[in-house]
Amino acid sequence: MDDSQEPISDEDNWLHAETIVCLNCFEALYRVDHSPFYYSVNFYCDQCANRAEVSANDPVIHELRAELSNRHALTNETLTQAIETRLRACNCGGHYASSAARRCYKCNAVVVPDVRDVDLWPSSFTPKADDYEPTPPESEAATHYLETHVRTTNLWR
Ligand SMILES: [Zn+2]
Ligand SMILES: [Zn+2]
Repeated sequence: MDDSQEPISDEDNWLHAETIVCLNCFEALYRVDHSPFYYSVNFYCDQCANRAEVSANDPVIHELRAELSNRHALTNETLTQAIETRLRACNCGGHYASSAARRCYKCNAVVVPDVRDVDLWPSSFTPKADDYEPTPPESEAATHYLETHVRTTNLWR
């Protein structure tokens, strides 16, 4: 066996994860680059802090991919646009877009301007040690956040 491989260090922080603070209401937030190994894509509302989480295995994605591919027009860019066109509007009336600004879920202020591949969560979503057991109020708050702000079903028009 080859044991020359470097152990993966927690210090690497290759997703640039950090706790940041909303400059408007001072809520602590967890900002992290969207992991390329996480097989879903988030589309953020252009009016509020909500997001739509689209699985890379969603049948609609396969359908759009095939359509674009038949027209020899399949790129990340065209696929993203096609997905954005098909996504149902947010409950607030806004539209989901991969490049929409990331907003504070407490006060709706823009926290991260329009960049792709960055996710913003309440600071309670900061990863903990593997054996960490969330307290009941922590679990409840997390569930409430996901139910209120993250759409994973009924995504399409
Ligand atoms: Zn805020
Ligand atoms: Zn919205």
